[in-house]
Amino acid sequence: MPSERASIADRRTRAAAKLRERGFGALLVSPGPDLFYFSGYQVFTSERLTCLVLDPDGKATIVCPELEAPRVAVGAPDIARCTWGETDDPYALAAELVRAPGDVAVADQMWAAFFLKLQAALPGRAFAVSSEITRGLRVRKDDAEMEALRLVSESADRAYARILERPFAGRMEREIGADLADFLRAEGHDEVGFTIVGSGPNGASPHHEAGDRRIAEGDTIVLDFGGGMRGYRSDITRTVHVGKTAGREEQKVHDVVRRAQEAGYAAARKDATAESVDAAARRVIDEAGYGEFFIHRTGHGIGIEGHEHPYLVMGNRERLEPGMAFSIEPGVYLPGRFGVRIEDIAVIAADGSARPLNRADHSFATVA
Ligand code: ZN
Ligand code: ZN
Ligand code: ZN
Repeated sequence: MPSERASIADRRTRAAAKLRERGFGALLVSPGPDLFYFSGYQVFTSERLTCLVLDPDGKATIVCPELEAPRVAVGAPDIARCTWGETDDPYALAAELVRAPGDVAVADQMWAAFFLKLQAALPGRAFAVSSEITRGLRVRKDDAEMEALRLVSESADRAYARILERPFAGRMEREIGADLADFLRAEGHDEVGFTIVGSGPNGASPHHEAGDRRIAEGDTIVLDFGGGMRGYRSDITRTVHVGKTAGREEQKVHDVVRRAQEAGYAAARKDATAESVDAAARRVIDEAGYGEFFIHRTGHGIGIEGHEHPYLVMGNRERLEPGMAFSIEPGVYLPGRFGVRIEDIAVIAADGSARPLNRADHSFATVA
């Protein structure tokens, strides 16, 4: 397997080929997911310009503030640096590096403040968003990315196993959320992204975070959490119930959602359309009579960002390919009562089948 640095360099080579193919003069990437993808350098966005300039020959330079040069050297040791001092014009520096003719692609998530100044420094150029170049690359994970996604998903699985050992009854949702955050970190996450704890009626709101509601015996609880580890994201949902036996309808809905998720897995394979996975999961829920309560798409891609292409949603005819990573997360939400969702991250493996990265048990677990 190639080293991580070699994988990252290869991404730049492939992007440069796309720049040539499309007749672009350069790709300009400010801090954000594309910068991490093409350089391995992770940095917060600030008013001081940091910008990777990739030209169609594959030459890459990171324009960065002098005071941040040492960390760029650590994050992206194999990329040339062009540093600027506090009184220099970083936009002129970046513009000088754009030598080939053609349009200029800029990171989708570049701040408007940076873009407008780069535009002014490059008069006569037309601009496009970088996703025209990067989407096709980022949607198919390379080996280094697959490994990172596998590790972060396993870390989330371990956090789930640990939360099952905690008492739930009598505690507030936010306390369970804090436990989940602690477990994610203890199990290797370097960043906690979100901890959804939707107990009882709160579970019927798919993106309910964790509030002050006190959990009681008999509650059904949606636990959806994730974060980042070495730049890649986790995202897992399991639904549990408090006390010995779950209510009859709760058990029934959980069975339906579980079968819907299995149907999603069965449909997800090389060359299947993204929407066909959604349709397969939705059909199970429709046939059980809960169709109107499945109020979101079946899944989203995941990688450096928590939500990215491909989206498993009606209308998306994009075909699944080896290397794609996405969630399969059907749910049923009964307003005022409870919700159930089961979510794994899955990848399309080299043999064309969908393989789960999350291995935590799917059953309707009992917590105390
Ligand atoms: Zn969500
Ligand atoms: Zn989730
Ligand atoms: Zn998700």
